[in-house]
Amino acid sequence: FRDRKLIVHIIPFENRRQILVTHDITESERIDMMRRDFIANASHELRTPLTVINGFLEIASMEPNLDAQTRLSHLKLMTEQGERMQRLVEDMLTLTRLESMDHPIRPEAVNMRVLLDKILQEAHALSAGRHEITLEFDGPDILGSTDEIRSALINLVTNAIRYTPEKGTIKLIWKNYATGPKFIVQDNGIGISAEHISRLTERFYRVDKSRSRETQGTGLGLAIVKHVLLRHKANLAVESTPEVGSKFCVQFPITAIAPVEA
Ligand code: ADP
Repeated sequence: FRDRKLIVHIIPFENRRQILVTHDITESERIDMMRRDFIANASHELRTPLTVINGFLEIASMEPNLDAQTRLSHLKLMTEQGERMQRLVEDMLTLTRLESMDHPIRPEAVNMRVLLDKILQEAHALSAGRHEITLEFDGPDILGSTDEIRSALINLVTNAIRYTPEKGTIKLIWKNYATGPKFIVQDNGIGISAEHISRLTERFYRVDKSRSRETQGTGLGLAIVKHVLLRHKANLAVESTPEVGSKFCVQFPITAIAPVEA
């Protein structure tokens, strides 16, 4: 019954009170439907790389005398597809784990300086010199799960790199506001048109499937971000203009600020 909304009715009956417990069928049906969709989407996503790998394995067994160069190029393509499957499975596991966690986070002080310096380093490695990436750091440490926050922020930064063409700029900003600390990732990449914005955090939702695949996306990144932020009582705001760029802004509550040690 964990996923179902229980409704408890207390009904007076003769001199006794009866308790009637029902559950909201529409809610449980909705969850069922989401599960089915998830499995269907996940199977579909895994089938594509599997088909490619199986195809090359068949060629290898039917044509054992392929020249070394062709064989090498087939192996490279198979490795890419294997890696794609691995990313998919890892993201699916992360998302399922986050969704099934019914316990709240055990907050620890997250050293944002250390965390964001590491994220900046990873961003430089991923971009491999193709973008100008900067970090403006002027915010406090916060209370939360370091691992979860890392995975949410790295997803946003990875997207900025993925969807920004070469020579683009990516700005990371960590700053405190009257409303609480904010993490902002701003890029001048391909942007997103307005009709897609509200659906971005749906599992497997992608504006352009083929582009996302080319850029190694799984379609699960922003769903993971959404769940992490929900567990930290933080919000995600997206502003974007096609061909101009995107700004993803994570707003943490004031209560998330870690007390400063004396
Ligand atoms: P993916 O793994 O495909 O990147 P995400 O859930 O992380 O999946 O993002 C969903 C979709 O949102 C992406 O496929 C892409 O179309 C769009 N998107 C996310 N971030 C950006 C960005 N910074 N610029 C442009 N489009 C973006």
